[in-house]
Amino acid sequence: MDRVNSEGIPREQLIYALTQPKMVAHARRRNGCLLCRAKGVNEAGLCASCIPFLSREELKLMERWMAGVGP
Ligand SMILES: [Zn+2]
Repeated sequence: MDRVNSEGIPREQLIYALTQPKMVAHARRRNGCLLCRAKGVNEAGLCASCIPFLSREELKLMERWMAGVGP
């Protein structure tokens, strides 16, 4: 998969997406959540409503983006 489709990515691909700087950068640029395309995303390209549903592994990746470390 090399692009984010218009409906957001399938949940099972989120881990992969969070390791792809291009996908995260794209979500941030259009200000649309990687998963649901809602507006208002954080440094990891995720919106506030999706964050509570993230797994521990996904949260860890998200925190790396928030800390400016990247994937
Ligand atoms: Zn979302």
